[in-house]
Amino acid sequence: MAKKTAKKTKKTTKRLVGFLPKNAFVMTKKSKAGTPPVDASAFSSLEEVYQSLEGCERCKLCKGRTNIVRGEGSTKPEIMFVGEAPGAKEDETGRPFIGRSGQLLTKMIEAMGVKREDVFIANVVKCRPPENRAPKPDEVEQCRPFLEAQIKMLKPKIVVALGKTATANLLQTKEAIGELRGKIHSYQGTKLIVTFHPAYLLRNPPAKKDCWEDLQRAMKELGWKAPAKS
Ligand code: SF4
Repeated sequence: MAKKTAKKTKKTTKRLVGFLPKNAFVMTKKSKAGTPPVDASAFSSLEEVYQSLEGCERCKLCKGRTNIVRGEGSTKPEIMFVGEAPGAKEDETGRPFIGRSGQLLTKMIEAMGVKREDVFIANVVKCRPPENRAPKPDEVEQCRPFLEAQIKMLKPKIVVALGKTATANLLQTKEAIGELRGKIHSYQGTKLIVTFHPAYLLRNPPAKKDCWEDLQRAMKELGWKAPAKS
C-alpha cells in the first residue's frame, strides 16, 4: 500500500513539474536557507526570474522583510545601477532607491540627461537586512543569481556598481573603491564602472565630484552627451 502511495505521489509530482518553470522550486515554501543557490543560467525570461522570487525563502533575510525589492526600470536599459540592499522605505514599498539615497540617485541619473525610468535600478540582495546592516556572504550567495539573471536578460551596455558591497560582489574583489574607480571593468562580458553609493555621497558631499566623473565615464562609453545647463 505504502509503495502504491509513493508511486502515485511521484507520478503527480512529475505531472505538476511539467507545468512549472525550470526554477519553480524556488517559489515553493519548502525553499529554505541552506539550499543551494538558484542557477542563474536556467532562467529564460525576466518573468521566470520574478516568478522564482515570489515568496523566496532562500536566505534568512526573508524573515524580516515586508516586500521583496526586485528592481525596477526600463526593460531595455542602456545602463543599470546596482546598489547594496533595500532600506526601510524600499522594504515598505517594494521599490528600490526611493529614500534619501534614492532621491540623490535619481538626481544623478537626471544629470546624465535621462529619466529614472530609462535605466534599471536593483540591489545585490532583494530583502532588507535588519538594522540596515550589510548583507552577509551567505545571503549574497543565495540572492546574487537573481541579479545575475536580471543583468543577463536586461542586457545593459554598462553596469554601475554603487558602493563597496555591489562592487565587491560583482567583481569578486576586496580592493577598495578608490583603487577600482577610473577604470572600465567587466562583469560577465558587460562593462562595469565603480562609483560611490549615494548614501556615502550624502555623508561626504565633496565625493559627488568624483562620482560625477565616474558617471561621465559611463556616458562616454555609451556615447551620451551631458545635457546643456539650463
Ligand atoms: S534576499 Fe534574496 S535570496 Fe534572500 S530571501 Fe530575499 S529574495 Fe530570497
